[in-house]
Amino acid sequence: MIVTVNPADGTKLAEYRPMTPTEVDQVVGQAASAAASWGSVELPARLEALTRLAQELRGGRDQMAALITAEMGKPLAEAEGEIEKSAVTAEYYAAHGQAILADEPVAIEGAQAWVSYEPIGLVLAVMPWNFPVWQVLRFAVPTLAAGNGVLLKHSPNVTGSALAIEALFRAAGFPPGLVSVLVIDEPEVPSTVERLIADDRIAAVTLTGSNRAGAAVGAAAGRAAKKSVLELGGSDAFVVLADADIEAAAAAAVRARFTNSGQSCVCAKRFIVEASIADEFIDRFVQDVKNLTIGDPTDRSVTVGPLARDDLRAALQRQVERSLAAGAVLAVGGRSIDGPGYFFEPTVLTGTRPGMPVFDEETFGPVAAVAIAADPDDAITLAAATQYGLGLSIWTSIPARGIALARHITTGAAFINAAVASDPRLPFGGTKQSGHGRELSTAGLREFTNPRTYWVA
Ligand code: NDP
Repeated sequence: MIVTVNPADGTKLAEYRPMTPTEVDQVVGQAASAAASWGSVELPARLEALTRLAQELRGGRDQMAALITAEMGKPLAEAEGEIEKSAVTAEYYAAHGQAILADEPVAIEGAQAWVSYEPIGLVLAVMPWNFPVWQVLRFAVPTLAAGNGVLLKHSPNVTGSALAIEALFRAAGFPPGLVSVLVIDEPEVPSTVERLIADDRIAAVTLTGSNRAGAAVGAAAGRAAKKSVLELGGSDAFVVLADADIEAAAAAAVRARFTNSGQSCVCAKRFIVEASIADEFIDRFVQDVKNLTIGDPTDRSVTVGPLARDDLRAALQRQVERSLAAGAVLAVGGRSIDGPGYFFEPTVLTGTRPGMPVFDEETFGPVAAVAIAADPDDAITLAAATQYGLGLSIWTSIPARGIALARHITTGAAFINAAVASDPRLPFGGTKQSGHGRELSTAGLREFTNPRTYWVA
């Protein structure tokens, strides 16, 4: 049985019976035929459904946000924000889908030629718990606009959210089966996902999650010669140069690290600060971290909730302890909080450097690693000293300088004087071990299409 647990107090929420292999097969069959029919629905009708989806999201916001918070522990206001962002994204594609998917004529002598963005079929989505609705809709909305179907394998701890998403699409008038959920549990997950990727009824796969899961799914897609999009871990650098507005940078640093209780791939994780302003930045940052309110995520005054699972908290504790043993200095926090629920103190470690777990690995929780750079060149070297390449944030009073420095570091996004965030109007994705492919914007809508060449002599 899959048992979901409220991470704020450890109480049981619900039990779900995993599907049998026969049931999985039936769901895949229904989803594949729904996807085939949907592909021949005219684009305006597909886009109208997205407008209704946005309305359904907003109408059911309170209930869905409460479910997200109960299942994975984020503060209620952030859960509500996740629903609103999903609605905005549905509206974005409802408004721009026609232009993005329009045929593109190509001038060729003696022939009429164009590129047409056509559906590919049913796409398998393996999704994580950290933004239970947003991660799914960020992929599903453009994929459905493109004329495909969605087969969702969500994290077990957010099974309630997965089923609520399936119901949401039905309520918005999408055909039965077009967005289908598979309820499966360990130890069946890797073998079932691998079998599905090889199944002729599945056209492609997308995964958001850890590098371990991404490597398994990417390898299975390679073996089956199928397209994959992988949105994996991150260890984004937040670089503060000596000429930055230190107060603004420190305030943004707290939001960038501790939003979603630190459990986001684009949370800033490594704070790389020029030596001449390091003391001032660290003082302000640590003070702002001390002002965070940790506790019951349904309490509106709380800014940091529990971690989503006890095993994730234990892994974070080990990363902190190994980094302290390697010479990092504890400025604040550092420990799991006793009692029911999976709370971890908002933590800042200073004196970090390559070779320490908090610098080299993705830390998925409220732990900030601060490193001091001798000068801007050293800051760039430190920022680039990671296997990841998701986002980058640089703080400086001269934006052109920030842009020039950003060009020396490979990431999917560079933000100057702003924290990294996704936006439906801009592509989102990583380089290096952070994955490949793009979500959102034009790139995200075309990612799961067949850009088909037409040549009429
Ligand atoms: P996982 O990457 O293990 O889970 C993400 C999804 O992938 C889940 O649906 C999971 O299913 C599935 N999955 C895992 N292994 C496989 C596999 N071999 N084949 C197919 N599907 C698979 O993340 P966890 O929840 O265990 O979190 C562990 C760490 O991953 C975090 O501490 C964090 O560092 C990172 N992470 C990063 C995220 C990001 O957005 N960058 C999001 C979530 C996690 P199941 O759980 O049923 O195995």
